[in-house]
Amino acid sequence: RAKDDGRNGFQFYSADMNTASLGELLLENQLRGALERGELRLHYQPKVCARGHAVVAAEALLRWQHPELGLLSPGRFVPVAEESGLIVPMGEWVIRETCRQLRAWQDEGRVLVPVAVNLSAQQFVHQDIVSLVREALDDNDLPAHLLELELTETMLMRDADRTVHILAQLRAMGVSLAIDDFGSGYSSLAYLKRFQVQTLKIDRSFVHDIREGGEDGEIAAAVIALAHNLGQQVVAEGVETEYQRDFLTRQGCDLLQGFLFGRPQAAEDFASSLGSAQMPRDARAAGESVAA
Ligand code: C2E
Ligand code: MG
Ligand code: MG
Ligand code: MG
Repeated sequence: RAKDDGRNGFQFYSADMNTASLGELLLENQLRGALERGELRLHYQPKVCARGHAVVAAEALLRWQHPELGLLSPGRFVPVAEESGLIVPMGEWVIRETCRQLRAWQDEGRVLVPVAVNLSAQQFVHQDIVSLVREALDDNDLPAHLLELELTETMLMRDADRTVHILAQLRAMGVSLAIDDFGSGYSSLAYLKRFQVQTLKIDRSFVHDIREGGEDGEIAAAVIALAHNLGQQVVAEGVETEYQRDFLTRQGCDLLQGFLFGRPQAAEDFASSLGSAQMPRDARAAGESVAA
């Protein structure tokens, strides 16, 4: 008891213990039960082709339907989940749920597009991500190209040798890989070649810099050129204005993502952007309708 009154006791009464950290503690306790109570949701945001603006892919973004606070953005609870390690089971749920949703859309006769999920560094360390991904795809009878993984630079640099090995296995499986928020973290350009990801996503801050009358699109333009020289596809995130859209398209950016084209939305609402196949081209769906 005397020991407890030492540092912890002091911290409790000190001004450092602000309402935010107390809130975090409460949030962490509630977050533990959120998964089991089924309070997590995925919202889907479209990625459109820069030429033609057809929806060709999507990103799954985590939400927490909190019983009292309402729908919470990842900014509110992902940091807490990462600190507590809860991000590992939560991240597993994200991958399984994305695959389950793709299967459900396919069964409804929707034309599927690849869906990207965001990974946390801890999922590389504390989880057999390769087996998890393989299992989630197999359980739902999905081809691997329908799943994309978004990784951050910091994540890749942490244990580069091990990461290269894991990424090679994922790539061999046919899963596609993207570097998220590119340019915002610390990365070595030499490693870009080693990691061999298919896609770079230009960080939102550089897209935000593209303004009419300004001359601040240089970084976005440079990232597009770099990616193309490495044989990679480029996605711009956070596209909000027509000016940004036109600038990025002129620079040869491949895909655009942002509020201009669609906000993240619940699965039921996103489904309408997928359109439905009159005649399912998928062999499995065709086989089923014949059998029925
Ligand atoms: P991110 O992966 O870079 O995702 C893009 C974020 O930008 C999303 O915020 C999206 O709603 C927002 N966004 C998209 N278009 C626009 C736009 O035109 N303007 C503006 N201002 N924002 C736009 P969100 O959903 O709040 O997610 C924030 C971050 O939380 C994500 O950034 C990602 O790092 C993390 N996150 C989301 N879902 C997961 C998850 O399942 N697992 C993990 N580990 N992290 C996640
Ligand atoms: Mg992302
Ligand atoms: Mg991003
Ligand atoms: Mg971001």
